[in-house]
Amino acid sequence: MTKMPDDLMTKHSGPVLPGATIGIFGGGQLGRMMGIAARSMGYKVHVLDPDVSCPAGYIADKVIEAGWNDRWAAANLARECATVTLEIEQVSITSLDEAARWAPVRPGGAMLAVIQDRIEQKDWLKKHGFPVGEYRVARSVEQFGDAVRELEAAVIAKSATGGYDGRGQAKLGFGNVAVDDAALRRGWEDVGASACVIEVALDLAKEISVMVARAPNGEVKVYPPAENFHENQILSWSVIPASVPDELAARARAIASEIADTFGLEGLLAVEMFITKTGELLVNELAPRPHNSYHGSDRACTTGQFEQAVRTACDLPLGDVSLVQPTAIANLLGDVWLNADGTEKQPKFDAALAIPGVKLTLYEKLKPRKGRKMGHLSAVGATADEARERVLAAKAAL
Ligand code: ADP
Ligand code: MG
Repeated sequence: MTKMPDDLMTKHSGPVLPGATIGIFGGGQLGRMMGIAARSMGYKVHVLDPDVSCPAGYIADKVIEAGWNDRWAAANLARECATVTLEIEQVSITSLDEAARWAPVRPGGAMLAVIQDRIEQKDWLKKHGFPVGEYRVARSVEQFGDAVRELEAAVIAKSATGGYDGRGQAKLGFGNVAVDDAALRRGWEDVGASACVIEVALDLAKEISVMVARAPNGEVKVYPPAENFHENQILSWSVIPASVPDELAARARAIASEIADTFGLEGLLAVEMFITKTGELLVNELAPRPHNSYHGSDRACTTGQFEQAVRTACDLPLGDVSLVQPTAIANLLGDVWLNADGTEKQPKFDAALAIPGVKLTLYEKLKPRKGRKMGHLSAVGATADEARERVLAAKAAL
């Protein structure tokens, strides 16, 4: 049955129950795992992605091949769905608004507009009193130079839009290397010669993230913090719960919860945080969707992040997020499939799976490339340390 747009009929209210269709902007691994959670609860899944052979394509009832700016395709997605959510924050606001005429979109465009631009996001956090590291904004190469000189420190510049896994970033002044005009010009080019934030490079003791879920009725669930270890600015492994003092974990969870409330979030929000060597707790960045650091949450907690995403999108009661057992994950990048000469090899998954408590998740990406997230291993343990040791041993066995 063809629907009337929402502004021509009464707003949807109440839960979207199994049997209905959920629309997802984005068919990457996050969309795929969200879709699997939805299917196992009895929903149908439609996905919009520029690539028909995306990871979620294998599990979706329908894939609409379209770009993030295609508002007509966005309308087509929403017209056939009872509710719409997303796995990627780059969807254009016009597309989200168009979709919202036909079905609830959770999380909504107003919050996305703030989050998808690093400048807006940082300014929003600062304006609302959330702790962030020192930063400047630059919109020209001149402003870029002024900002770097003014901060008088090693800095990390990050493009305002489009970056992820360290892409669109530039490091300047590391190892006491003088920042001359040529280095400034190179830095500006590396962030795409467009608007960016320039952050003081912090001396980090640890990185953590906190996942928070908020329902349309305001109910909030905050997960135990995850501890994250990055290599080359890409998440390498992650453990739930983070080994941090209770007081700090409580403070981190309170910050995440307050951010969710201030936004009026409907959906999931991952809050990445830094703990500096001087003991400060700072917000790094926000991701309004499932997050790599919570891929172990279905084993670590009563309700995993993907099921929780489905619950928020469908306006169902949120699931309990208590810790069940410490769980670690290790990302499997394309590098694991590649020999030094670039030829492909088969990783020894049998050896990895021989380690107690280990499970394997692959995203069905066809081509392994260096730095491309292809899957992950997870491991449970009696302690967070044991879980991490097991997952790293499993990865080493590949
Ligand atoms: P992305 O969108 O690529 O995840 P992030 O801002 O999270 O971008 O940066 C990726 C990683 O780079 C962080 O998780 C952290 O390890 C490192 N990093 C980023 N900003 C800083 C900073 N200001 N000081 C120290 N390390 C940083
Ligand atoms: Mg990040």
